[in-house]
Amino acid sequence: MDNYQDTISALGLTAERPLLQAIAERLRNAAAASNSTVFHIHDDHFALILPQRSRREALQLTQAAIDCLQAPFPVYNIPVYLGAHAGLSSFPFHEQDEPARLLTKTWLAMHQASHSGRRYRSYDRRSDDTSLHTAELLGGLQGTLEQDQLRLFYQPKFDLETGRLSGMEALLRWEHPTRGRIPPDTFIPQTERTGLIHPLTRRVVEQALADLATFRAHGLAMPVSVNISARNFLEPDFAEDVLAMVHASGLPPCALELEFTESAIMSEPDEVIAALNRLTAAGLALSIDDFGTGYSSLAYLKRMPVTTLKIDQTFVRQMLEQPVDAQITRASISLAHDLGLKVVAEGAEDTATLDALRAWGCNAAQGYGVARPMLLDAAIAWAEDCGIESRVQARCATHRG
Ligand code: C2E
Ligand code: CA
Ligand code: CA
Repeated sequence: MDNYQDTISALGLTAERPLLQAIAERLRNAAAASNSTVFHIHDDHFALILPQRSRREALQLTQAAIDCLQAPFPVYNIPVYLGAHAGLSSFPFHEQDEPARLLTKTWLAMHQASHSGRRYRSYDRRSDDTSLHTAELLGGLQGTLEQDQLRLFYQPKFDLETGRLSGMEALLRWEHPTRGRIPPDTFIPQTERTGLIHPLTRRVVEQALADLATFRAHGLAMPVSVNISARNFLEPDFAEDVLAMVHASGLPPCALELEFTESAIMSEPDEVIAALNRLTAAGLALSIDDFGTGYSSLAYLKRMPVTTLKIDQTFVRQMLEQPVDAQITRASISLAHDLGLKVVAEGAEDTATLDALRAWGCNAAQGYGVARPMLLDAAIAWAEDCGIESRVQARCATHRG
């Protein structure tokens, strides 16, 4: 249903039952002609099952179901306009094995319809929409935690003042056995919604600590940062878990840095700030990621025990062409410095951008202009290789010791 939650919020929870009953009643009437059965799935979601019929008949039923929900519903004598959108999938065309998966595909098609502004859509694997695949992928992700399909890539942070490598950011990829390399934006949001983000982040931190030891064995002592979801901070023991992993690794806590966005502290500011304080007290470095894109609250920024602010790449990438982006970047640099923070610019794609950032007093930069994210071995080779001089026009020196 469209507008359902808003309607309930406006009319109160007592409106829910009569409204759902009215919806079900209309759907039953629409379904009666074709002998299909109506199910209430949950909240404002209903399913109709139409056995042994053609695709054309299924489309007719869908149309009829949507149409019957267009007319206003009288609730407490107020005409309430809801409307609906739908998804279709069919057995055995879309799914041969699992009834639950067939329903999931219908569900995905419904969301597709809603996102694309259409009234209904059929599940279509060939449309190759990432969101369609993600639910299937997610089923597989649980298994990847045990299998060896998660890879960390490392992207250098380049100190603009000294010309040294100042850190490496661990960026996650999923090496899917049949779909190839899947970028984090495709599956992280789903893991956040399902809670799978908790074991996933543990795995990332563990792997990053193991890789840190490898970097150090090569004489590379720069810190490694990992991305932490806002969701992670809502787990009461998160800080203690991370500290336990660091302790078990035998590495100094200052070798690990956590990057998180401002949204992390929005829901439970006091608890999250307390957890952040425990982490910094133990010696971990903390950075605000994607600065400028979230709901920045300067009051919170002042309270947060962070050491670094990362300016989001959406401002940095085109700052030489877009005067507004340049202004935002410069203002962020000076804000960070006024607050006593270091500032890293993300998404520096060329030498001219690196030069401008240096001239504006930005401490460090990260981006394709320095290096792309690389697998561990390549990152080690990159850090050891002074050939970066020509690209970044600055002295390359790696941290040794
Ligand atoms: P982020 O933390 O802002 O990471 C920077 C992203 O920008 C990375 O994409 C990186 O490959 C890309 N990038 C770096 N330099 C440039 C550049 O010069 N130009 C352009 N166009 N892009 C550049 P990636 O690796 O796909 O990661 C996307 C996002 O996924 C990350 O954004 C981060 O929020 C999230 N992410 C990555 N790994 C993890 C993880 O282990 N856990 C969690 N929770 N989130 C992660
Ligand atoms: Ca990051
Ligand atoms: Ca970013």
